[in-house]
Amino acid sequence: MERTPLLPLPEGMRISQIQVTQTGLLISVSATHPTSCCPLCACASSSIKGHYRRSLRDVPCGGRQVQLALTVRKFYCRNPLCERQVFTERLPDFVEPWARMTMRHSEQITCIGLATCGKGGTRLATRLGMHTSRPTLLRRIMDLPDPPLGSILYLGIDDFALRRGGRFGTILVNLESHRVVDLLPDRKADTAAAWMRKLPDLMVVSRDRGGEYASAAAQGAPQAIQCADRFHLLKNLREAVEGLLAHHLAAHRKRQTQATFEQSAPVWRSKRAARPCPQGGASSAGQARGASGPLRAGDRLTSARAESAGHCPASGHWSQHRQSLARDRNLS
Ligand SMILES: [Zn+2]
Repeated sequence: MERTPLLPLPEGMRISQIQVTQTGLLISVSATHPTSCCPLCACASSSIKGHYRRSLRDVPCGGRQVQLALTVRKFYCRNPLCERQVFTERLPDFVEPWARMTMRHSEQITCIGLATCGKGGTRLATRLGMHTSRPTLLRRIMDLPDPPLGSILYLGIDDFALRRGGRFGTILVNLESHRVVDLLPDRKADTAAAWMRKLPDLMVVSRDRGGEYASAAAQGAPQAIQCADRFHLLKNLREAVEGLLAHHLAAHRKRQTQATFEQSAPVWRSKRAARPCPQGGASSAGQARGASGPLRAGDRLTSARAESAGHCPASGHWSQHRQSLARDRNLS
């Protein structure tokens, strides 16, 4: 079976068999070039020693997973000066040596990982017909080459937590492009200073208000101007305003409490003075009637009712109390 446009292959490869399985497609492919070059001496050889099969994951076809059964040949190297006697043919545009997936499949997984930032990428890949795992997505992203550092004039530096409260690293940001340019494994001044020495054009270092990065900038980029970054300035301002407001709020509540106490104190004293004493004779009401003898049970009851009604028996308002006293005696 020859090549099919549904599954394009590099020049010199052909499809020998396609099987439909429960999980997708199993496609047998092999290379057809009569010769292959030795990876050590680059001499072409047509002496085939044998072959073996590799199982590779490939890009999905019609939403179905594709598994390639690649037949790989082994050649003799006929160069007498070469140290390698047997080599495996290379397919540099299709699959890396020892890889378990094709290069185009790896590129698609990398794209999914970059687009989803590793979150949900596994579920999306499964829906697209690719079997992968979250560690594989993250590993593909981590394997990407670092972009060239280039010239940085304005640098932002701060720490970040690798493990909250335990281990910290340093993040370095190009303030012109707003991109992270590097991550350092710790937040020591020597480490950051060694990194800054690679940037002789550095003009401004924006940092926190701690001493480590100030020392790092002084050692690694003495020509640069140091300034406090906006985040830490606003953080300090917020903390200062919160402290000031808390102080004023506490003072205001204290004054309010004192004013409330002073306003309620005269009322409390007058109520206490007007309250009849259970033993009689200790309150003003008892003293007002002390001349006519000790209080009787009915009088104490009448006095309590008069207080609850807002009338003081000592003030001479006895008409209602007499009626109440007579009613109590009739009931008894
Ligand atoms: Zn060789």
